[in-house]
Amino acid sequence: TASKSNNFVAKIVQEDLDSGKVTKVVTRFPPEPNGYLHVGHAKSICLNFGLAEQFQGECNLRFDDTNPEKESQEFINAIKEDVQWLGFQWAGDIRYSSDYFDTLYDYAVALIKDGKAYVCNLTPEQADEYKGDFNRPGKNSPYRDRSVEENLTEFERMRAGEYEDGKAVLRAKIDMQSPNMNLRDPIMYRVRHVEHHQTGDKWCIYPMYDFTHGQSDAIEQVTHSVCTLEFEDHKPLYDWYINNLPVPAKPTQYEFGRLNLNYTVTSKRKLKRLVDEQVVAGWDDPRMTTISGMRRRGFTPASIRNFCDMIGVSRSDGMVDVAMLEHALRTDLNNNAPRGMAVIKPLKVVIENLAEDHLEMLSAEYHHELDLGTREMPFTRELYIDQEDFKEEYSKKFKKKFTPGKRIRLRHSYVLEATSYEKDEQDNVVLVRAKLIENTLGLDPEDGDKPKGVVHWVSATHSKEAELRVYSRLFTSATPEKEEGDFMDHVNKDSLQITTAFIEPALADVAPESNFQFEREGYYVADRYDHSAEKPVFNLTIGLREDKSL
Ligand code: ATP
Ligand code: MG
Ligand code: MG
Repeated sequence: TASKSNNFVAKIVQEDLDSGKVTKVVTRFPPEPNGYLHVGHAKSICLNFGLAEQFQGECNLRFDDTNPEKESQEFINAIKEDVQWLGFQWAGDIRYSSDYFDTLYDYAVALIKDGKAYVCNLTPEQADEYKGDFNRPGKNSPYRDRSVEENLTEFERMRAGEYEDGKAVLRAKIDMQSPNMNLRDPIMYRVRHVEHHQTGDKWCIYPMYDFTHGQSDAIEQVTHSVCTLEFEDHKPLYDWYINNLPVPAKPTQYEFGRLNLNYTVTSKRKLKRLVDEQVVAGWDDPRMTTISGMRRRGFTPASIRNFCDMIGVSRSDGMVDVAMLEHALRTDLNNNAPRGMAVIKPLKVVIENLAEDHLEMLSAEYHHELDLGTREMPFTRELYIDQEDFKEEYSKKFKKKFTPGKRIRLRHSYVLEATSYEKDEQDNVVLVRAKLIENTLGLDPEDGDKPKGVVHWVSATHSKEAELRVYSRLFTSATPEKEEGDFMDHVNKDSLQITTAFIEPALADVAPESNFQFEREGYYVADRYDHSAEKPVFNLTIGLREDKSL
């Protein structure tokens, strides 16, 4: 399924292959297991796995697990599932940065022996003061000139648990005057007396991201280490470690623009607040732009991959209009989703020239172009149509509607003619009487009086009742993060409405996660967890037209 991309990273990879600099392309997708993946990660997944596919290389899935207190096995499992659901498979086994903790420790010792790293005992506040800022050069730590011997002993003491959290760090000796803050003797290791989900209580010191990432890339023979733009300033440090350590390869970092999408937030930290503060029911709530939330909402893997193709990859962070995501989704569902019928605002129609117990099974194709099979629809004396499809009086504007004396075609079924109707005390039409026009299954009426409109319907006696979960946008602002105050103040309090619909019986029997177009109503999906034949539950994925947005 690899589509040929011609983004700037793909061009670099092609050049490297052409020049012989690289013979086999190896990329990696390196999530930290501190939350669920979101639509922004999908862009990174499509890019990294896409490059590997396009150039017959490999892409690793590596958990960047250097902050154990925020990470968990739950997140690891969810991330693996999301990557595979999107249609990608990592090369070989799952990798963890923690697989390399021993090697990284040895690298740190090598750097100390070279006189390029030292243990520093400044308090975090002092260290901040010594570090300076953009306008102020830093000052050397008083611990900077410790001997190699002393540093080796001190680092060993750190590892042995002789320091409390925050009392000692290992730092690279680079340049406290550098205009790049990342080079002002960055921390390599800090003390954290916490259990790690992979290494248990083996370690009480953990390496920093910057000291871990490039070396892990080198160990895995990654050729193109692609990350988002905020790491641009870290590249000199990435290269410094690679050039100063006995690593087995020299990977190169490339940066691309992160995906920001309006009407949502794309940051795990913020998505976590929506979960923790119970604005949504969980990380995979259908309103969340997490991959698992989008999955439950009814997105298909292809729709997300196509969206990532559409937005492309560039060197700048842009805001993408959620309409593009909706377009990719609607296009995929329009092309591929089976059709079915559900009546949301039911109006009963009684066909008076049919017997009380009339039951005829009509066969209908699930899709007008694709071969998605057929289902049987019970056709009976009493039906439901949508309230909007009946008008008390004929008018040109409503010539496609059902009106006394006028005809309508029932989708995949016969032509009816309305004869009379009943109203309740509130003046609502509650029942329509009609007669069936003979010989109109797939045929025009013999008398030449053709119906103008086609409506969806279900049997009133043989349909099933389904719960519909109708979702709308989670935020009222297009840019909740840019509003004054807290982005949480711009949550849409009304983003879920629960209603019911009468559905064809065949739709009750479908597997969870089956996508449908409910004809003339919208795209719906059988809920991944709550749908069953006994209690059908469908989520609104998206409306049929652009004016009905996510
Ligand atoms: P967050 O800020 O949401 O926590 P992160 O960058 O810390 O995201 P990681 O788990 O470290 O999350 O990300 C794994 C990979 O996904 C990284 O290479 C990162 O650059 C990329 N990534 C994360 N968010 C986006 C985004 N919005 N657009 C594109 N790539 C992203
Ligand atoms: Mg990160
Ligand atoms: Mg983060």
